[in-house]
Amino acid sequence: MSRSVVSFHYSLRNHQGQLLDSSIGGEPIQYLEGVGQIIDGLEEALTGLPPGTKQVIMVAAEKAYGKRDDQLVRRVSRSKLPVEKLNIGDMFQTDGDRHASIVTVAGIEGDEVLLDGNHPLAGQDLIFDVEVLNVRPAREDEIGHGHVHAPGGHHHHEGEGCC
Ligand code: ZN
Repeated sequence: MSRSVVSFHYSLRNHQGQLLDSSIGGEPIQYLEGVGQIIDGLEEALTGLPPGTKQVIMVAAEKAYGKRDDQLVRRVSRSKLPVEKLNIGDMFQTDGDRHASIVTVAGIEGDEVLLDGNHPLAGQDLIFDVEVLNVRPAREDEIGHGHVHAPGGHHHHEGEGCC
């Protein structure tokens, strides 16, 4: 089956209409279909849309960053965190056993800190305003590597780890 490389601009809002993120004014997002580079629900909705399409796409939490998992909230001793000042909403990179993950300070209770390992957008239904800019067939080397290559087709990955 042939796959496409799609580029698009987007603005992301949550259910309350709050703007969370946007590519407008910057580089458009470019992805190779079928590798999970963007969230499932968004890729599904974008598939087959021709260039020039402007559309509002609603993605339920389950197909975005998943439901919240209360098991991912941990209570740790304040002294384990290597910073002097700590505020609710601060994010830390933890490199646990296998995957480095991001945790958010969800609460501070005396000498203990609540760390939330959920993605900040977990549990949220997301609303994307998208504009499809370009759709082209993916090249063999891109499908082989599982990511988009810069024009010219040489090994240029713009900081993306590869090979
Ligand atoms: Zn590559």
